[in-house]
Amino acid sequence: MIYETYPFAKPPLPYEYEALEPYIDAQAMHYHYDKHFENYIKGLNAALKPYPQLQKMTLLELLSNSRILPPEARTAILNNGGGVYNHSLYFNNLSPASENNHIPKEALMKQINQSFGSFEVFKEAFSKKALSVFGSGWTYFGKNLYGDLEIINVPNQNTLVAQNFQPIILVDVWEHAYYLQYKNLRADYINNIWNILKF
Ligand code: MN
Repeated sequence: MIYETYPFAKPPLPYEYEALEPYIDAQAMHYHYDKHFENYIKGLNAALKPYPQLQKMTLLELLSNSRILPPEARTAILNNGGGVYNHSLYFNNLSPASENNHIPKEALMKQINQSFGSFEVFKEAFSKKALSVFGSGWTYFGKNLYGDLEIINVPNQNTLVAQNFQPIILVDVWEHAYYLQYKNLRADYINNIWNILKF
């Protein structure tokens, strides 16, 4: 998705809608994937429609070159393009609990142990960070420009593309990501998501 160009289209969900139950139920997945994700795609296409020169750029190029975006379209492109980018990573970053990919592989685990002390300590730090997002946003975990592991919160549909941050996992902490199923209990959503986050 990040290397695609206008017109953007929603890719197929890489698992069944109910595949992440009980941690994310089918109804929540339908709303999130079919409605919210779709709206960002529509918004991005609408924002790019009047600009043939931008239609040749990949999503990654659009998000990393905000200086060259027309000022009157910049906010719409970054908000919707960020929404497309974040959601495409997020849905691909989840997999059914029965799959054997919810623990970092050896090289990453070693780096996590070095940086945080243990995987458990890392998970606590990430969860705490995600719980601290005020309003809407995302919690990222990945490698910064220097190759160091970092946990970073971004507001709204911001991304870390321009900072050359390489995401490993990210969690949507907008209320729309959990409210339908978890109501106000963001901590339960975050605790449960470790069962389905794909490393
Ligand atoms: Mn979302």
